[in-house]
Parts: sequence; structure tokens; C-alpha cells
Amino acid sequence: MPVIDLVELYYASADLPAPFEPAWVPGSRRMKTGFYLIRIATDDGVEGWSGFSASGKERAGIGDGIADAFLGTDPTDIDLVHERIKILANGGLRHWWIEPAFWDVKGKLAGLPVYKLLGGTDDRIWLYASSGEVRGIEARREEAEARFAEGFNVMKMRVHDWDEAVDIAQIQDLADHMKGRMRIAVDCNQAFRMTLHGNAPIWDLGRAKRFADAAAEAGLFWVEEPLYMEWYDDMAALAAYSRVPIAGGELHTSGYPELRYMAQKRCYDIFQPDAMWSGGIKQVLQVGEFCRSQGLGFSPHSWGNGLGFLINAHIMAASGFAKEYPFEYPYCPPGWTLEARDAILARPSMHENGWFSMPQEPGLGIEIDRKALDKQGVCFFRATRKERHWMPETLDGSAMRREISREGAQ
Ligand SMILES: [Mg+2]
Repeated sequence: MPVIDLVELYYASADLPAPFEPAWVPGSRRMKTGFYLIRIATDDGVEGWSGFSASGKERAGIGDGIADAFLGTDPTDIDLVHERIKILANGGLRHWWIEPAFWDVKGKLAGLPVYKLLGGTDDRIWLYASSGEVRGIEARREEAEARFAEGFNVMKMRVHDWDEAVDIAQIQDLADHMKGRMRIAVDCNQAFRMTLHGNAPIWDLGRAKRFADAAAEAGLFWVEEPLYMEWYDDMAALAAYSRVPIAGGELHTSGYPELRYMAQKRCYDIFQPDAMWSGGIKQVLQVGEFCRSQGLGFSPHSWGNGLGFLINAHIMAASGFAKEYPFEYPYCPPGWTLEARDAILARPSMHENGWFSMPQEPGLGIEIDRKALDKQGVCFFRATRKERHWMPETLDGSAMRREISREGAQ
């Protein structure tokens, strides 16, 4: 039985070609994207990768815990991986983002892409263009036209205004402008409130109902996260009331148990958990199976960097929902381009007319550009069963002890 004999952790950042102002963090303007990466390897050299979005050096101290939890363990025992991640979580750290690295190893050992290992048969998945910024009406029309010209037939826009009339005018205008050509969904980003850089509006059930009425009249595909993520009763009341499907679920870090409860309560019509936050590949796929049994929709969230997109794509391809619901393709030029989103990968995950062809190599198909990682990143922790290093030398001996830029925020 192969066992885990190496854990490496990296921080990397990449410049964005233009500023990016995420709708969900009012007042923030990002010039860089940041990544945490984990590389694990078995004693016979099979490696697994995963990665997460980084705000800064907030995960600098996690190496010892991960090394203690996983060195010497069987990489294919995903149940054990989940148990150990929960043990780490009791210390306040819920690192679901590392779980896909074990699936990467497991797929490679089986000689199969992970979605096929999980029983998936959808080699191509339907995408929607997921925009990340609040924009004015004219700029929004131009953006939708550009995505439509590239072959997308669904786009998700964002609203985040204090004035609900502004939000409603935005969705009405874009749905009207793209009528008969492209379906529009909207993300209200109300499930969590980010006030680090500026104040943010918070909706109550009344505002969410009025917005859902307007969305239904405009013929929107779905309304995403119109209420705070813990207001289960209000969410269920809204989903029962609304004539347009209500979607959400990306940040429920308790994973399947909480999302199953929410599905039983019918808090959403379409569940959108993300492997990186809400239970790894295993639990997010369980959510999809439960949604199927309950007649609910499912499409994992994937906003973030290109690793999150690829990892969640395997779940979509394995879920059986890939032709019923489009899957999120984070794409918001001129700031959030494919090259910036996938900066540490050997090649961007390109769409083809709004569809994505699943990688066919064994594992997750994450190919790290080691030159880019050396240039833009730092390995801040390295451990085997015999030794352990903070800020280690690189494998070729060159020093990697440089300070990570404070502005490396994503
Ligand atoms: Mg969302």
C-alpha cells in the first residue's frame, strides 16, 4: 500500500492585467490573484495537487498540522482524509481544499480521470460565463454581447446596490437586451457579508421577495444567494414563494450534513456547494446525489482560481447534472482573465463555445507550471516522514527565502 511521504505547501501570486473589483467585497480593488497550493506525494512518487485562494499569508502556519495528520497515511482512504480534516477543524481550521489532492493521487493510481473514477460519463460539461463585478447598464450589455459572441448561452451577473430599484433595473435591462439569445442569472452575494473594505447592503425577506418577483418577470435562469446563509427559515420561505429558482450553498463549511438539512428544508432549488469550502469532492458529490433524490438542481460553485474550477468540474462531470445545469466558468475581463485565473497552471482551462472538455489524464488534470511557480511562488513548508522544514530550499538548491509581497491579495 502506498503511503503519503511528502507534504509541500506553497504560496503564489500573479498580477492581474487590469484591476478587478469583486462584487462581494464592496470597496476592494484587486491588482493580484493569490494561491495556496498543496503538493502531496506517495513513497513511490505519485503526486497530488490542490490549491485555494489566498488573501495573504493567513495560512502560513498550517504545515505542522497537515504533516501530522497525513504523513504515513493511505492516500486512497478518502474517509480517513475527511476524518483528519475534521480533526484539524477542531483547531479552527477547516481545510477541505486539501482533500482534492488525495483524489488526484487516487485517480492516478487507478489510471482514471477523477470524474470517471466517480462513475461520471459526461466528457463535456455545459458552462455559464460567471462575471464577478457590478457594472453599469451599458458596460453590462457589452460584456454579455462579448460572452455571447464567444459561444456562451448563459451568463451570471452581479448586483450589490443599496437601492433595490437599481438592482432590479439592472436585471431587467440585461435580460431584455439579451432576450432570445442568452439566459441571464444573477448573484446577489447576500449569503455572507464582507465589510472589510466598505459597508455592504443586507437584504431581508421582503427585499428578496420583491427581487425574486422582478427576476421572474424578467425570465431569469436563477437568483443566487439572496439571503444570509444561516437564515434557513427565510430561505425556505423565499424558495417556496419564488417563481424563479433560488440557488446557493458555496460557503457551508460544515459540508454535507448542513447542506442535506438545507436540501430537506428546501432552502434552495439549486444547490451550489464548492469542494474547496464545503466538504471536499466526496461530500459535494453526496450533496449532488441527495439533490437528485429530492428533485432539486445542482451545480457546484467554482469561483476563484483555476484549480477550483478544474476540481469542481470533475464533480459536475460525475454528478449526472452536467447537461441540465450550466457550470460556473469564472471569467471577467479585463481584470479576471483566463490567464490570470489559471496563472500557475501549465495551460488555461479554455472553453469551447461555452462548453468544457474534461481532462482525460489520470487524476484531476492539474498540471502545474513549475517555472511559473518558482518565479511567482514560495514553498513555505516541506515535510517527509523523516524531516520537516519551514521555508525550505527548492529541490535544485536555490534559495526561496524571499519575503512574500504584502499586496499579494486575491
Ligand atoms: Mg455565488
